[in-house]
Amino acid sequence: MQPIHNIYCVGRNYRLHAEELGNDVPDIPVIFSKPTHALVKADGREITLPGDWGDVHFEVEFVVHIGRAFETGMAVDDVVDGMALGVDFTLRDVQRELKKKGQPWLLAKGFPHSALITDFRPFPGTAQCLKTEFVLLKNGKTVQTGRMGDMLFDLQTIVEFIAAHVGLGGGDIIYTGTPAGVGPVSDGDRLTLRWGGETWGDCVVKLI
Ligand code: MG
Repeated sequence: MQPIHNIYCVGRNYRLHAEELGNDVPDIPVIFSKPTHALVKADGREITLPGDWGDVHFEVEFVVHIGRAFETGMAVDDVVDGMALGVDFTLRDVQRELKKKGQPWLLAKGFPHSALITDFRPFPGTAQCLKTEFVLLKNGKTVQTGRMGDMLFDLQTIVEFIAAHVGLGGGDIIYTGTPAGVGPVSDGDRLTLRWGGETWGDCVVKLI
């Protein structure tokens, strides 16, 4: 599998999550990106996150790895060669201020360790993924449950949209949006990412 190249993310891709933050449900996909410095493995390690910029929220997300350049007419199952679970950490108070000013989200979304990621596994195909729930636990308690079928924009739409507007090639990964239930992390919290009841990764939060 090619090393990670671009990190794309989809915002507001689940109706209940858009509503919990008081946002309108979008007509077209909301896309943003993170620097590769944001990446950190969910392999049980302690990860440092900013402790003095207001709330840091967890957002568990289904993540796909792109195997080759997308060309018009290709299906998701032709271009996606891996899947993982991730957390799109967000400085929520900073994001609120940026939104008010109409400024880009980079400072709220792109800080070091803001892109937690499990190991990638072979992609079993969209149909199989639609049957499985993904879950985030905080200190052993379920805080978010996601079903790909609840996405406002499905994988095919997202892949086509990103390819058309900003380019999509081998090594790119896409965080496909978070379901409802986001909330703040505290120093010492353990986060666990599960796919269909199987633990795929975890970490312990260290706020600095
Ligand atoms: Mg997100």
